[in-house]
Amino acid sequence: MESVSICVICGLCLRYHLGMRFISSSRLALISLAGLLCLASSCQSGAPGEGVQAERVILVSYDGVGADLAWQWIVDGVAAEPEGLATMAREGFSVRRLRMNDPTLTAVNHAVLATGRMPSDTGVISNSFRPPGAALGSRTNGFNAVPEVPTLWSAARAEGLRVGSLLWPAGAGAKGRDAADFGLGWPMRPAAPSAVIELDPETAGTTGELPSADGVAVLAWPLHFDFGDGAEPASVEAMVALVDGNPDGKPRWDTVGIRAPGTDDWALYGERDWFDVGLELRLPDVLGENRWGAWSKIVHIDPLRGTVRLYRGAMWRTIGWPEDFEHRLTEAIGPWPGAPDDHRLADWWLDDAAGIDLDVYIEQIERLDRWIDAAAEWVTANEDFRLLLTYHPGPDEYQHTSLIVETDQWAWSPGRALAAGEGLKRVGRSVDRSLAALWSLLDPEHDVLVAVSDHGHLPIHDVVHLNIALAKAGLVRIEEGDQGRAWVAPSSLMVSVSSGSAANIYLNLKGRDVGGVVERSTAGELLLRAAKVLADLEVDGRPVVEKVYARDELAAIGLDHPASGDLVVFLAPGFAASNGLSGDPITPSRYYGQHGFLASHDEVCGMLFARGLGIKKKRADELPATAVAPLVAQLLGITLSN
Ligand SMILES: [Zn+2]
Repeated sequence: MESVSICVICGLCLRYHLGMRFISSSRLALISLAGLLCLASSCQSGAPGEGVQAERVILVSYDGVGADLAWQWIVDGVAAEPEGLATMAREGFSVRRLRMNDPTLTAVNHAVLATGRMPSDTGVISNSFRPPGAALGSRTNGFNAVPEVPTLWSAARAEGLRVGSLLWPAGAGAKGRDAADFGLGWPMRPAAPSAVIELDPETAGTTGELPSADGVAVLAWPLHFDFGDGAEPASVEAMVALVDGNPDGKPRWDTVGIRAPGTDDWALYGERDWFDVGLELRLPDVLGENRWGAWSKIVHIDPLRGTVRLYRGAMWRTIGWPEDFEHRLTEAIGPWPGAPDDHRLADWWLDDAAGIDLDVYIEQIERLDRWIDAAAEWVTANEDFRLLLTYHPGPDEYQHTSLIVETDQWAWSPGRALAAGEGLKRVGRSVDRSLAALWSLLDPEHDVLVAVSDHGHLPIHDVVHLNIALAKAGLVRIEEGDQGRAWVAPSSLMVSVSSGSAANIYLNLKGRDVGGVVERSTAGELLLRAAKVLADLEVDGRPVVEKVYARDELAAIGLDHPASGDLVVFLAPGFAASNGLSGDPITPSRYYGQHGFLASHDEVCGMLFARGLGIKKKRADELPATAVAPLVAQLLGITLSN
């Protein structure tokens, strides 16, 4: 297999699609992609699982588990489940590296994994992008974009096979023919946000509903949930009580009672216990009455002062289709417990009196992993399917918030780096446990488990606000828009739309784009200026941008699609892009891992493991991400062609 060579050249070769050619002295690292994408053919023969058909295939994706990380978990013994990752590697088919597509983003690569085609064919060219020819401010969410070519689910359904999709990104918002037969979508908005609440004896009342030992007074506080106008009910109140639950002669507050809204029932908890506040709720923009839940935690009890620190989780419901599936699943396993609370952990890394601690955060990841596994288990017991796609966001979220490995990262200290590293191992154990759980649902004689990921992570230290950098050069116009919030003016010459460490720069071109202002005669010059501005960005002498592609160069990296930018920018490792519109162009990052970097970096390669019926014991060095869908299609006996 060929490896990728990176050549650093002090020059920029930029050709605009109108046929103009420029050479600039600006500094850019260019990368040779030759040989990157020619790997599929050599690996097609003798493919795992050739010539057999599986009764059921589960395709699971663990977002953000880079190939290096997965193999490190195996080698270091983090993956210790008897039927987990290490066994998949030993007994089944694996690759050392799954080479993802550019940009190495979640929606982009889940579309690739589900179709076997490049982003130029799927049309999912970023997590967020401007639709072709649309006004400067309009956006498509890549997670909801339906690939423009057959997907595993559409192809399987076309041949009468039943398919389920539990949270699979890309096409998640699809309807009817374009969607799986049943599935779960990503809940976007909680009925009530999360909060960290400090309960103080000064503000406490009391209640006669709970006993307290050793003469310790019962302290009680209301716990409010407000759901806003039009909700039924518009708000509810739970009660929190603090008592001495241990008659040991020592007067100490040690036990919290929670009285659920609208009941007389108290449940008792100790410090660091989780509890669920659940209720039936009707929201004005949500059909029908639904079951919602807020997964919350007693973070700290001060036994002598009588204070309680409580994490009130956001209140979520399950989003699924069809409606009957959503209701039956929620009835069986409870509502969606919520994704980990990234911002509150980011606060804590910089100030341990703020936000939520690492334990709370990782417990949220583990809880969501177990809930998604429970959904897969319930589906396996209650639904017929030939293909089940399932997705876990935890490893990605963890590395975004906590990949603290380098001294130039804001939160870095020896202790925090150690804690963050141990946390990542715990996330690895949760992934391993999930794989073992999925394997236990299948029959090795008839079924296949395929485990993949969409990209790895690289540590970052700075965030680059590309529109601000371009505005300083007069290329982007930032104005005060509605409600005093900054926005890119509709009359701006161009706009940068970034996701992760990649960005599409769109010209506002007359005759092509709604509301376009740029004449074709000046387009090339403007793009050259923009590329120079970006190429000249640096921090301590290190270039911020690794590579800028012009529109007519995009075929080389599989991004030649009308939705792609007039320039496509890849930042150098260490930097993340942002769409922020105020402040300095480059600021220290408050989060620590990112992806979207060029796929040629080995660190952002994904993983691929498969085990089950007819899967030969084999380890390949490298495969392209486009090889996964044909493998699954072959196992199901379906074709992915148009
Ligand atoms: Zn991510």
